Amino acid sequence: MNNERLQKLLAYYLPAECGVASLVGGQFIRGNGEIIRVRKAHDGSELYSYRDADEALIPQLADATKNAGTAWWALTAQARGRIMYQIGAEVRKEAANIAEIEAIASNKPVRDAIGEVQKVAEMFEYYAGWTDKLHGEVIPVPTTHLNYVTYEPLGTVLQITPWNAPVFTAGWQIAPAIAAGNAVILKPSELTCLTSLVLGILIERAGAPKGLVNIVAGYGHTIGQSLIAKAPIRKVVFVGSPATGRHIAVAAAQRCIPAVLELGGKSANIIFDDADWDKALRGAQGAIFGGAGQSCVSGSRLLIQENIYHMFVADMATASAKFKVGNPEDSETQIGPINNEKQYKHVCNMLNKAKNEGAVVAGEFTVPVPDSEGFYINPTILTGHNDMYVAQEEIFGPVVVAIPFKDEADAIRIANESRFGLAGAVWTKDVGRAHRVAKQIKAGTFWINGYKTINVSSPFGGYGESGYGRSSGLEALREYSEVKSVWVETAENPLVNFGYGAQEK
Ligand code: NAD
Repeated sequence: MNNERLQKLLAYYLPAECGVASLVGGQFIRGNGEIIRVRKAHDGSELYSYRDADEALIPQLADATKNAGTAWWALTAQARGRIMYQIGAEVRKEAANIAEIEAIASNKPVRDAIGEVQKVAEMFEYYAGWTDKLHGEVIPVPTTHLNYVTYEPLGTVLQITPWNAPVFTAGWQIAPAIAAGNAVILKPSELTCLTSLVLGILIERAGAPKGLVNIVAGYGHTIGQSLIAKAPIRKVVFVGSPATGRHIAVAAAQRCIPAVLELGGKSANIIFDDADWDKALRGAQGAIFGGAGQSCVSGSRLLIQENIYHMFVADMATASAKFKVGNPEDSETQIGPINNEKQYKHVCNMLNKAKNEGAVVAGEFTVPVPDSEGFYINPTILTGHNDMYVAQEEIFGPVVVAIPFKDEADAIRIANESRFGLAGAVWTKDVGRAHRVAKQIKAGTFWINGYKTINVSSPFGGYGESGYGRSSGLEALREYSEVKSVWVETAENPLVNFGYGAQEK
């Protein structure tokens, strides 16, 4: 560990002698694989290193999840709820530390990290309230039976998460999974596993059985792939890139294991000429430049009505030049660096492609932050059209393509000309038009006169190549449950079925 402050913060949670290791059944187990080196995005220096987890972990994970899952489901629903509330309380208590770890080790501006950690606490509190309300249903069947439906845990679920919102994504998936009674194996990104490990420890401190939530520290193509192929899991929930998601769904299908995929996006943010100018301008900036554009729901295609197009782009370029881009540990920073070198190179390549395609840059980009060798990209507005490569492929950086449209029908057509369908928004004062547009856009989340508001109580997921299945809300509990239909004969002298139709006395 090359950062004293990070080492001090981690000492509250992880035993120093273990370094960065996997949390399995309440114990830290060091990997034996290749050395993984994590660098600081601000200056490219090495922050810490650890060894990749190896397959030898899998039998231990199997025992840990089986024992803990059985113990967890044997508790009353109320007891599970109390522990989940306590997890929320532990997260709140440690919020400042977790946010600081996220800023140092996951390159996330500290002000963003604090908000995300608070949301993690809300997630456990929200699902704590569901544990004793996950009751089944009685179906009014047209026979003499009482037919009831119950929801049961799947067993153990595997969750694989990306680097862009590490602790947020971990809480987002762990909370509904355990509320529905499951045990969890979570494999965070190899680049950002620290806050997921801390969350795993807090879950145990709150009183959950050790082994209910296990965190595996390692690469996707090694241990991640082995977990899908060999671990005793009943579902894979994947949050990450479309290419990896496709690969994971195929691997899971080979074992007849269902998957939920939360993938990328190329969301359309539509500005009509009657929109509240200042609000739409602020909304358009937040939609793409918040989190340095490393957000799956980023409003990365900015559709602007043609009669206001040039003025809106000019105003946005002027306003965007004022953002404070810099070190994520600085509390003033609004836009931090790109998380890692690979992603930085991808964004730079996309900017070069844009140039070759004839996209014009409004404002400036790739201006290095002083005293830094880091992976910084300034907020960038490209003017272009929807057929451009950069308008169709995910950039996952602070780069927006501004596209003009004629009228309502044209805006809807352009917005839907994408293979993704994660999110979108419309800015207009015309209520009827707002609802007409919302109805016709093919996306899992849509905002009217706003952007990026999400809450654990509302379902989230994609259309098209943005994935399938839903996270958050009641839908996530259903994703993490098996459904059982029970038929109870209640007639005094019942007819006994021979086939589906024929009945015998
Ligand atoms: P990624 O697909 O490279 O990696 C995601 C996770 O998959 C990591 O933990 C990685 O180790 C693991 N992985 C990689 N190869 C694997 C394999 N062969 N088997 C098993 N696991 C494997 O994605 P990323 O670069 O970390 O994240 C960025 C992407 O995530 C973007 O496309 C973004 O849109 C998407 N994302 C989507 C959502 C959503 O909710 N829809 C949220 C956040 C991020």
